[in-house]
Amino acid sequence: MGYLSRRRRGGRHALKTDSSDSIVAIAVPIGSQGAHPVRLLLLATALFVVQALLAGLGVDAHAPAPSWLFMSVQAVTVAAVLVYRRNEPKPFTPIWLWLTAATGMQLIWAGTNVLATYVGDAGDVIGRIAVVFSGLYMLPCMYIIASSFDRREPRVVTLVDLALSALVAALLVSLIFNLMPGGPHASPTSILVIIQHADAIDFSLAAMATLRMFGTRSLHKRFFYFATATFLWINAAAAWAYNRLELSGLPPWTGPMISVAYVALIVVLARPVPLWLSRYRPGRRTVQTINAFAPVVLALGTLLLAVSVSRFDFGLGMLGAAASVVLYAMRVAFIQSRSQDMQRAAQLRNQNLQQQLGRDPLTGIANRAMLEPRLRDTLREGAPRGTSCSLLMIDIDLFKQFNDSRGHLAGDECLCRVAHVLAAQPLPRDSLVARYGGEEFAVVLPATDATAARAIAEHLIDAMERLCIPHPQSPTGYLTISIGLATARCHPSTDPMELIEGADQALYRAKREGRNRCVAAGNGAEATGPSGRPSSLPANHA
Ligand code: GH3
Ligand code: MG
Ligand code: MG
Repeated sequence: MGYLSRRRRGGRHALKTDSSDSIVAIAVPIGSQGAHPVRLLLLATALFVVQALLAGLGVDAHAPAPSWLFMSVQAVTVAAVLVYRRNEPKPFTPIWLWLTAATGMQLIWAGTNVLATYVGDAGDVIGRIAVVFSGLYMLPCMYIIASSFDRREPRVVTLVDLALSALVAALLVSLIFNLMPGGPHASPTSILVIIQHADAIDFSLAAMATLRMFGTRSLHKRFFYFATATFLWINAAAAWAYNRLELSGLPPWTGPMISVAYVALIVVLARPVPLWLSRYRPGRRTVQTINAFAPVVLALGTLLLAVSVSRFDFGLGMLGAAASVVLYAMRVAFIQSRSQDMQRAAQLRNQNLQQQLGRDPLTGIANRAMLEPRLRDTLREGAPRGTSCSLLMIDIDLFKQFNDSRGHLAGDECLCRVAHVLAAQPLPRDSLVARYGGEEFAVVLPATDATAARAIAEHLIDAMERLCIPHPQSPTGYLTISIGLATARCHPSTDPMELIEGADQALYRAKREGRNRCVAAGNGAEATGPSGRPSSLPANHA
């Protein structure tokens, strides 16, 4: 709200609300301090000094010259804000525009005062326009205090904040129209009611700007709220004094007094960012708490204002109260739903990442990292049912020669084919086919005893033969595999490494005994070639 100037115009008192009080000033991309703000500061200081001189000479604060000077100080403030807006970091929410809007409303209000000194205001038309702009001024002010200015926030939340701010403005205009001298509910004390509301709003805005300053991580925004708070505190104090002095006639020095906040704002904009402000960095929890609290204050302010208005306009008051509650509830609902969406997306990303981490980049099947945990889980989960778990270690025979004769690219392609054939076979539920490394694969077979595992292994050897990948150096003329098999009874204390070790030893024997076969771990386990056919491959590999 603001300065309430009662002026004799057209033979009667008209109540003005000076929006200058609750201005919200904002500032500054770091390092943007240049010649312009300094020049503007010099200009504002010069205007202020002339204003003070006129006051010293006893010129009435409502005379045209002091009014023009006050308006000029405001215009310079708008210019200073615009200069800072030019330097705003580019992908940034345009907070400066909101301040420009706020200061623009004030300029129009001051303009109505100057106009009234020349043409009078017989029908109180100019006075009413001034009240409307005082109310409109609250819209950007409230928005600046309540909004998070976070681009990631849903657009609809911005609309809700704007709607709540507009509601405050409308309720305020209604309050002033009803209680101002000549208004439908005016009484000898109603001017005091307006002043008290003005004070409450002004000091609340100043306090909220300060709170936002302490709850903002970005230095740019923190400086913005620092400048805003500086302005708002000085302005609230000046308006507090001005409105009370005005009841018994304004002394001339009140003119420069209401300009102090504007000059202070330009001083803040023209100077470097204070060191303490750039060093201060709030914790994440502080930021979250203050950001969540700011819109509550906006909704609460709207509700209280609606209650005040309901004393003389019950319908509008109740409507305002209901709207403030509904709008706030909508705000919370939208933010909650967005945060749930974000949580789901993060979970999905996490899952994908986990999957990618456990994948072999060449073949796309699981990699070695998945093997041990899966074996451990299988051994633990099978324990209550007393099942066995088997592991096949598979190695492509004479793969070095395959690479040597067909090239590494063909070797890679061959590895992919083998991986896909292994993964495509019908295996027990929850089996895992993984690339163990190089040309070796591993297959975990849950709830599979040694006999069933051997049958599966032989099926895999057959499947590989059926693939008929030509291999000139292989005695069969085609690519073959050897398999080592190990089986253990499921028990939570069984070490998966024992199973891996056992299958690896068995594989070693399969190689020694001629390749293209499966050998089971354990004493005297017999090697069998596919279809019971003895292998003719040379036993030269360990
Ligand atoms: P054995 O029958 O005794 O297993 O003989 P081998 O030639 O298959 O075994 P060895 O350990 O001597 O050679 C393995 C070869 O596998 C050597 C290496 O070039 C090849 N290899 C390992 N990883 C890859 C890969 O990712 N791509 C290709 N193309 N070749 C690979
Ligand atoms: Mg090998
Ligand atoms: Mg090999």
